[in-house]
Amino acid sequence: MPKKIVAGNWKMNTNIAEGIALALGLKELLKKSEVEYIICPPFISLEAISKMLADSCIKIAAQNMYFEEKGSFTGEVSVTMLPGLVQYVIIGHSERRQLFGESDEMINKKVKACLEHDLIPILCVGETLETREKGEAQEFVSEQLQKDLEGLDKAKVVLAYEPIWAIGTGQTASPEQAEEMCSFIRAQGLTGNSILYGGSVNAENASNLAAMPNIDGFLVGGASLKAKEFGKICAAMQN
Ligand code: PEP
Repeated sequence: MPKKIVAGNWKMNTNIAEGIALALGLKELLKKSEVEYIICPPFISLEAISKMLADSCIKIAAQNMYFEEKGSFTGEVSVTMLPGLVQYVIIGHSERRQLFGESDEMINKKVKACLEHDLIPILCVGETLETREKGEAQEFVSEQLQKDLEGLDKAKVVLAYEPIWAIGTGQTASPEQAEEMCSFIRAQGLTGNSILYGGSVNAENASNLAAMPNIDGFLVGGASLKAKEFGKICAAMQN
């Protein structure tokens, strides 16, 4: 049975003080359950927050990392710098792919580096509106999966289906649309993997999405910046 997961991607929001305050709010709110709760703060706050949450049920993810171990890669954070601070790493978020030019080849190296260093990758895939309207969404996602997971042991990878048209737009995929793609992803040899949906998830729409059999959890952006709202989304996944 895949693990249920709700992960909050804070993106480039919160300074250290704000991050600590938000993490503290969540620590008070979230109680141990069958759902794995993950927060993804900016790099600058990882150390303080990981110490603060060490005795809690909340796990931590980095929002990105570089696959090389060390060297002349100005501005990057290496895969070897993260163990001890985080348990998970978001890889291939559409903002990394679209704004920072990350290719499937690079994403494949990042997933591989995570697995080699006992970090669990949360691999994001998803199509643009144009691709969906052309009826090519499944073909597109299947190609991303094939390239991003090539040559790897897929068993430990968490997948996040994040249609680009639904991210930060308020236009969430319907439960049926999300379920259709998540079940398609599962059918690509990913039977035991946790498959999350991401794209404008909030406290109102979370229950209907959570009721779908192939949605094992959520990757939440905007709504994860408010402790109470994130808490409600976590509760929807538990029921
Ligand atoms: C995300 O950043 O992964 C995301 C799904 O954002 P939002 O929930 O704001 O659409």
